[in-house]
Amino acid sequence: MKKKSVLITGGSGFLGSHLCERLLDMGRNVLCVDNYFTGKKGNILHMMDNPYFEVLRHDICFPLYVEVDEIYNLACPASPIHYQYDPVQTTKTSVHGAINMLGLAKRTGAKIFQASTSEVYGNPAVHPQTECYWGHVNPIGPRACYDEGKRCAETLFFDYRRQHGLRIKVARLFNTYGPRMALDDGRVVSNFVVQALRGEDITVYGKGDQTRSFCYVDDLIEAFVRFMEQTPDEFTGPMNLGNPSEFTILELAETVLDLVNSKSRIVFHDLPVDDPTQRKPDISLAKKTLDWEPKVPLREGLIKTIAYFEDFLKND
Ligand code: NAD
Ligand code: UDP
Ligand code: UDP
Repeated sequence: MKKKSVLITGGSGFLGSHLCERLLDMGRNVLCVDNYFTGKKGNILHMMDNPYFEVLRHDICFPLYVEVDEIYNLACPASPIHYQYDPVQTTKTSVHGAINMLGLAKRTGAKIFQASTSEVYGNPAVHPQTECYWGHVNPIGPRACYDEGKRCAETLFFDYRRQHGLRIKVARLFNTYGPRMALDDGRVVSNFVVQALRGEDITVYGKGDQTRSFCYVDDLIEAFVRFMEQTPDEFTGPMNLGNPSEFTILELAETVLDLVNSKSRIVFHDLPVDDPTQRKPDISLAKKTLDWEPKVPLREGLIKTIAYFEDFLKND
């Protein structure tokens, strides 16, 4: 039987590199497309010897003509520091990138997965967040380039389905962490782990009473694959994917300090503008549809993440 060919945009990023690995293990031909805006060759180096793995440096804001059976569209800077660095480019990546990847799916008949985000809910007025909640987004704030870009991408996915009958799978991802997060992307887990390992101050923004729900990367990738491979074409999502165990940021800081056995002190900085106060996915739909729920508890996932960063810092 012909091997399925799968395109992963953003394949050299944190989530993308784990997905490349998983799909190669499943016997797929994998084409990783990335412009290295935040991704790193180091994330995919270990796959380069695999004859079924191919890499293309390309910005998805420009058209791409390749022949594939499936597309996972992950290309987009994901951390607030990175997506606010060049906000216009962030919106272009979300919107022009989606149009190009949908155009590619339309021409080839490929099934297409979109990595959307819990940020489509903004600073949510409903808790926990279910898929039918329309969100509470400031359209002109510093997070809007990402939030509104991803919302517009969702609109495009559903319009391409209605207008052209595309097979789409839209997943709304909640905070995910694990090995290969970028050291410098300012996300809370990588920041706290690296600060604790270096003995630097742990920077809690605001009072640390805002909440997030953290999913370990392996759990999330399992859900991607089930969504793409095991659901019927009529099932499009949007579907929340994440871990519903909710923690305050202060609790996260204390857990990291405890696990690293670090002497770092917790210090408090200003809360960024429009920082959501609470976030927790309702994953009933994913549980029912995918027979899936996260398996890795926070402490266990943090131990693996700490080991990765410890090693990374030694060789840096
Ligand atoms: P990441 O920054 O590690 O990966 C994004 C990748 O996309 C990088 O390799 C980057 O170089 C690439 N990229 C950016 N713009 C591009 C462009 N124009 N053309 C080609 N490649 C481009 O981030 P991640 O955490 O792996 O996130 C992957 C996807 O998942 C993103 O779309 C993000 O919005 C979404 N997501 C992630 C999380 C999370 O917690 N990790 C949560 C919600 C949504
Ligand atoms: N596109 C692409 N690869 C393809 C097919 C299309 O990158 O294999 C791009 C193309 O540049 C176009 C976009 O996807 O701008 C949307 O394609 P669609 O067919 O929807 O629109 P049209 O070509 O009619 O503008
Ligand atoms: N945060 C923090 N210290 C840091 C980095 C982030 O307290 O060094 C907070 C941030 O203000 C937010 C939460 O942790 O409330 C999660 O931030 P992250 O950037 O990881 O993701 P997002 O805000 O997109 O959920």
